[in-house]
Amino acid sequence: MPELPEVEVVRQVLKQSLIGKTILKIDCFYSNIIEGSLKEFKSKVENKKITDIKRYAKYLIFILEEGAFLSHLRMEGKYFYLPKNHEPMKHIHVIFHLDNGYDLLYADVRKFGRMEYKRVEEIYSTPPLSKLGIEANAKSYDIKAIVQKMSHKNKTIKEILLDQTILSGLGNIYVDEVLHASGISPLTKGRNLKEKDIQKILDASKEILDHAIELKGTTIRSYTSSLGVIGGYQNFLQVHTQSICKKCNSKIQKIKIGGRTTYYCSNCQREL
Ligand SMILES: [Zn+2]
Repeated sequence: MPELPEVEVVRQVLKQSLIGKTILKIDCFYSNIIEGSLKEFKSKVENKKITDIKRYAKYLIFILEEGAFLSHLRMEGKYFYLPKNHEPMKHIHVIFHLDNGYDLLYADVRKFGRMEYKRVEEIYSTPPLSKLGIEANAKSYDIKAIVQKMSHKNKTIKEILLDQTILSGLGNIYVDEVLHASGISPLTKGRNLKEKDIQKILDASKEILDHAIELKGTTIRSYTSSLGVIGGYQNFLQVHTQSICKKCNSKIQKIKIGGRTTYYCSNCQREL
């Protein structure tokens, strides 16, 4: 699944190509990708100019001259931006025909990705975005409020960070990296974390996500190569998919937590 840095890279690349372009027509071959009525989505989005592309956590937000739509890539969603006479391609579910002779194509092998029309004033005040916690690389936040939320959690910190409602934008790769950098075992229960531990997690999240964005994300499976971008953060991974800890040379533990493969170093990371 693309995480915050990879979605940010997609946003940056799409923004360069799409600002000021008008979506003339939409073809959709798998209507479940669109939340709600496809007919209504088309009527709201067709003949609108794209004025900006924003992002919150793992959501892309296409701002139109009137209204907006959210796009979540989930497991395998990808965008391609190609001239109209491109070769036929597999797994294309939505085509946005643009007014400059190009198409924006949405491909998704697993078909889990979703798009949803929103009025601009309801983007952040309605689900899904209203249910998300602060972004994991936010510049400012209310640490006391986060500590308070965490203190009720009986789940492991790995599950809490994947859940997105306290901190949003991290997925399986970056959660493992953030907990390693924080020295905290993924098996630690949320309620056992003190303010100083949560501060360590927030500091590590910001540092790791910002560094990953700089390096155009992590390419383990590729989410951005459809747009011609190959990320470089995979060369900096300390625990995820590794066999030896880069910090202490101990063997990395590979376990399942909440059904997700989890890598951690039992020497560097303490269970609190
Ligand atoms: Zn270690």
